[in-house]
Amino acid sequence: MLITCFQNIFLKANSYLIEIDDQLIVIDPSEDTLFIQMILQKKKLLRYIILTHEHIDHIMGINRLKKMFEKVSIVATDYTSTAIPNPKKNLSVFHGFEFVGVNVDKIILTSDLIKINDYLSINLFPCKGHSRGGMFIKIGDYLFCGDEFIFEMKTVTKLPGGNSNEVIKSFDFLKANFHNETIIYPGHGEKFLLRELKIW
Ligand SMILES: [Zn+2]
Repeated sequence: MLITCFQNIFLKANSYLIEIDDQLIVIDPSEDTLFIQMILQKKKLLRYIILTHEHIDHIMGINRLKKMFEKVSIVATDYTSTAIPNPKKNLSVFHGFEFVGVNVDKIILTSDLIKINDYLSINLFPCKGHSRGGMFIKIGDYLFCGDEFIFEMKTVTKLPGGNSNEVIKSFDFLKANFHNETIIYPGHGEKFLLRELKIW
């Protein structure tokens, strides 16, 4: 498995391109041309676009990618699926434009998994705290957590739907269910280990 991180121009959000054998998975797609080129250069099938949460800086590439790869499945929680076509809920309106995203193909209501091949599945765990529509995405020993946790930073809970008690629940969930050396890829900034995660 090969993971490449791309930093968006817009708000410096992280987009991830994951290569597993002959398949590609994108987490939180950027619409930057450089990111799209990165995907095209692989010359492989883009199977899934998975969204960590509903905020505009993490979803902007979905329309462009869905147009280019008609068969790709967009995966998100139920709340995120309602926020994507709603500029107020996805916060784009607060950044001065109205983003209306395409429909989600697979809605995640509770812990779920997507089988990639005989030996690998993607585990999905809805979470709340930073936003209403959050989701942890675990692939092998790697965990993608969006903005629920960012290295050496207090989780932002002041945006609509933010809830600091839910952040504590998410923290306890990760510490109880995954080993300390799990590598965490956040929605902004550098990756870190679960043992380095603390609550502020
Ligand atoms: Zn966010």
